[in-house]
Amino acid sequence: MEKKIGNIVADEIYAKIKRQISSQSLDPSSVKLAVVQVGNDQASNIYIKFKRRACEKLGFGFSLFKLEDKCTTEEVLKIIDSINTDKNITGCIVQLPVPLHVDKYKILNAVNPLKDVDCFHIDNISRLYFGYESSRFIPATVFGIYYLMKHCNVETKGKTCVIIGKSNIVGKPLQMLLSDELDMACTTIHCDKYTENLFELTRLADIIIIAAGVHHLINSPDVIKENATIIDVGIHRVKVGDKFRVQGDVNYEALKDKCKLITPVPGGVGPVTVAGLMHNLMTANKLQSNQ
Ligand code: NAD
Repeated sequence: MEKKIGNIVADEIYAKIKRQISSQSLDPSSVKLAVVQVGNDQASNIYIKFKRRACEKLGFGFSLFKLEDKCTTEEVLKIIDSINTDKNITGCIVQLPVPLHVDKYKILNAVNPLKDVDCFHIDNISRLYFGYESSRFIPATVFGIYYLMKHCNVETKGKTCVIIGKSNIVGKPLQMLLSDELDMACTTIHCDKYTENLFELTRLADIIIIAAGVHHLINSPDVIKENATIIDVGIHRVKVGDKFRVQGDVNYEALKDKCKLITPVPGGVGPVTVAGLMHNLMTANKLQSNQ
C-alpha cells in the first residue's frame, strides 16, 4: 500500500530528530516525556498510545501519570509540581480533556514553560504572536501542518487561506502562523460555527484548513475552488456499513480529484502531530541543557 502523505512527512521529522540525536551524541533515553491523564477517556487512551509508541521508536523515555476521574485540581497540581522538579523528565503534557471540575487553565499554566511541549502555557503561546522564529514551542498539530505545507511546497504568499475552527490548540495558533507577513504571508479568513455563508468563503480559498470537529462538514466538490489545498485536522470514528472507520471533517473521496493536495484521515495530520510533539521534546531538551 502506498504510504500516505502524513506518514511520509512524519518519517522525515523522525529522521531529522535521529540526525540531531547523533550529531549531539545524545543518549535518547535521557529525553523523557511525562503524560498526565485525569480519568479514562477512550480517545485519550488511543492518543497516549501513539505518543508512547513515538517515544519508543526514538528511544526516548515515557511515563504516564494516570489519576482518577474524581481527583481534585490540587492533586493534579501536586503531580505537575513533582514533574517540574524532576530532572529526569524533559517534557510534560496534560492530556485533554480533563473532567470539568478540574481547573484546566490552572493546571496547564502550572507546567514548567521549558517542559511545556504542548505549548499551552501562556508564556509560550503568547510568543507565537511574534512569529515562528520568536517562538519557544509551536503546538504539535500546528507544527505538523506547517512542516507538511513546507514539505509539499504549498504556495502561501498572497494566497487566500480559510481556516475553519478557532480552538486555542489548533485554529488560533495556525491563524497567527499562516498570516505572518514575514513567513507564510497568507490572506487568512478565520471561520467558526457562527460564520454566515461558510461555503461562499471556502469557494474563494486556495488553501482550506479545517479543524471544526464536524464529520464531513465539507462534503461536496462544489464548495471548493479547482486545485485547492485542503488540510483536514478532524478525527471521527464513524460506522460505515457494519465497520468502524476513522474519517475527517472533509469527505476525502468526494473531493480528492478536485484538489491539488488533500490530506487523508487517517494518515494526514495525525502522524505529523505526534512527530511534532517529538520535535518539541528535542527543543525542550535543548532549552534545559542551555540553562
Ligand atoms: P474544538 O472542537 O475545540 O472547536 C471547534 C471549532 O470549530 C470551534 O471554533 C467552532 O466554532 C468551529 N466549528 C464547529 N462547527 C462549525 C461549523 N459548522 N462551521 C464552522 N466552524 C465550526 O477544536 P479542536 O480542538 O481544534 O478540534 C477540532 C477537530 O480536530 C476535532 O475533530 C479533533 O478531534 C481534531 N483534532 C485532531 C488533531 C490531530 O492530531 N489530527 C489534533 C487536535 C484536534
